[in-house]
Amino acid sequence: MRAKIPVQSCPCCSGKVNTAKAITDGTNNTPLDGDLCVCLHCGEVLAFNADTSLRKPKDSDYNRFELIDLMRLSLHSLDVKAKLKQARDASRLQ
Ligand SMILES: [Zn+2]
Repeated sequence: MRAKIPVQSCPCCSGKVNTAKAITDGTNNTPLDGDLCVCLHCGEVLAFNADTSLRKPKDSDYNRFELIDLMRLSLHSLDVKAKLKQARDASRLQ
């Protein structure tokens, strides 16, 4: 499920972010403090504050999740980074 969040800049790449997709149960419409997501502009894992602003994750943010969810998050991050690299490489060839 995708949740609308206030438009804000990714703390890693400054890309504009205005939606988030749950990677766990998919039932929560509003991200909770410490929920994790992946920036689609840079592929970095980010965490939500209680006010849905984004920050770089703290080690403790990862403790709330099952290993399978963290593996899914890592795969999603790598997938985004691979697609960004493919797009960069394709634009260099033109
Ligand atoms: Zn980013």
